[in-house]
Amino acid sequence: MTAITEADRAPRSPFDVQPDLRVVPLRTPTLPPATHTNCVVVGHRDVVVVDPASPYEDEQRRLLDWIEGNGLRVHAILLTHQHGDHVGGANALREATGVPVLAHPATTAALKGHVRVDDSLFEGDLVSEALEVDLGVPLRVLHTPGHARGHLAFRDERTGALIGGDLVAAQGTIVIDPPDGNMADYLATLARLIVLGTGVLIPAHGAAIDAGEDKLLEYIAHRQMREEQLQVTLAARPQRCGRPIDLVPAIYPDVPPMFHPLAGRQVLAHLLKLEDEGRVDRPDGSTDVPGVPVYMSASMAGWTAELPVFRLLG
Ligand SMILES: [Zn+2]
Repeated sequence: MTAITEADRAPRSPFDVQPDLRVVPLRTPTLPPATHTNCVVVGHRDVVVVDPASPYEDEQRRLLDWIEGNGLRVHAILLTHQHGDHVGGANALREATGVPVLAHPATTAALKGHVRVDDSLFEGDLVSEALEVDLGVPLRVLHTPGHARGHLAFRDERTGALIGGDLVAAQGTIVIDPPDGNMADYLATLARLIVLGTGVLIPAHGAAIDAGEDKLLEYIAHRQMREEQLQVTLAARPQRCGRPIDLVPAIYPDVPPMFHPLAGRQVLAHLLKLEDEGRVDRPDGSTDVPGVPVYMSASMAGWTAELPVFRLLG
């Protein structure tokens, strides 16, 4: 899921990143400016499908037609994480092809009652070995928490190409929504992907990013800048205190008011990281992860209602 303010310039027709890494953008109910989610098909003839994202029947049909038109044999459906704009077509594709759905156990738990997941994927798994099918691509499973606890990315070990799910976006920004989203985990994940070596990065929304590592560095720097801003903003307030929603206009001056509750969740994610580090606390003594996560609430009002005051220490 991405946000917020630019026009949608993402590709809407299928495109190849490598001959064995093909992307089919599917229309999904995602956050603006994105309108599509990238479904990635890995392999030459024997393939796996990552994030069959669309809940819309015409888009599900389009994906199936594209798979059949290219003469592909699907062996499994892999999910990066549980958000609706990534898993919306999983049940339909599973039914149409009879292949298993695989995800991280935390994703499976979050999808209980919505999407049937048949098997688990873990950090370090090679997809070909896990499925006992030769995809022709050494696709490695990476556990990449931060945006979601069970988030997986998939790396081509030959080229460093990365199917990044919602770790970065070619447009908009990535939402870190506590408690399933965790800012410290997210920054650690981004750093790890740089250390590992990342080539072309296929985000869930928008065009492929050729300079993957540069983008990861840019994202880390951006979040560090936000964290600095947040502390400066708190320091200037009475008693060095504020609720997340109070801090949004200073931190996100370009975000339209209708998205302030969402931005408030980002501020909360930063505050919880600072709290873990002992740099802020809560005068009311509460310790829970408060408020209603975006994905569990139909109305934006609940996202930042009841969030406590945080106080800058030191
Ligand atoms: Zn997401």
